[in-house]
Amino acid sequence: MDLGIKGKRGLVCASSKGLGLGCARALAEAGVDLVMNARGAETLEAEAQRIRDDFGVDVKTVACDITTEAGQARVLEAAGAVDILVTNAGGPPPGMWTDWDREDFIAALDANMLAPIALMKALLPGMMERGWGRVVNITSQSVKSPIPVLGLSNSARAGLTGYVAGTARQVAGKGVNINNLLPGIHDTDRAAALDKGAAEREGIAVDQARENREGTIPAGRYGTKEEFGATCAFLCSEHAGYIVGQNILLDGGAVNSTL
Ligand code: NAP
Repeated sequence: MDLGIKGKRGLVCASSKGLGLGCARALAEAGVDLVMNARGAETLEAEAQRIRDDFGVDVKTVACDITTEAGQARVLEAAGAVDILVTNAGGPPPGMWTDWDREDFIAALDANMLAPIALMKALLPGMMERGWGRVVNITSQSVKSPIPVLGLSNSARAGLTGYVAGTARQVAGKGVNINNLLPGIHDTDRAAALDKGAAEREGIAVDQARENREGTIPAGRYGTKEEFGATCAFLCSEHAGYIVGQNILLDGGAVNSTL
């Protein structure tokens, strides 16, 4: 399917690995020129070069922390007038509800709620003026079904989801669509770190922890960043213009609900 976005410009945050990289590669395959971001410059530049070589699109890189105001300013300056924004950042650390104080919540809110909101606030006006735009926020299945050890994530991402629900409907009339993609467990470094944490907590091998977690997913496996990226690219496509303010679960059926 031709996604109809060849020649558009996209900013994909936190995209040197994992789900962000999956989104960047799928958009590049559809012909989108990119600005990519992550903190570690070396992996970021290596992946950017792989994308240039594989798909022939223009790719700029900005190595910085997207959760800080200074990082956001640098990325926005490099991005200029983008048509597509994919927000993403690392997830908050696991723990229990008794562990966290105010500062932990502020850090989680900065990373997983306020950073995407700041980027949308900066980029939506230009998209609306040009009459076309797509925003995809990478959130989590924890928005639909809380994950006990990820209370910081449950909280911050719920805040972003509420913001998007209202804002998406205020910009849709100008050809700008904002939606959220909710990953269940995907095969990335983040998932490996959570497997390791589960193994330590339960006193079992990491392979066993993974097998146990796979057993909770009706699809019987973790998702891939390629599947995730393809869905993101579709939401950023010409064909997704009637999808507004939705929360799309990619979880292999893990969240047990009818709607
Ligand atoms: P990942 O494999 O660990 O990759 C994270 C990427 O983000 C890396 O490129 C990393 O590069 C970059 N990054 C992290 N913090 C950053 C920051 N402050 N500023 C800029 N770049 C940053 O993680 P993932 O699995 O793709 O997860 C992406 C998001 O989805 C996370 O918020 C995670 O909580 C959420 N999620 C993931 C899963 C899953 O199963 N994978 C499930 C639900 C939700 P640097 O380290 O070099 O900055």
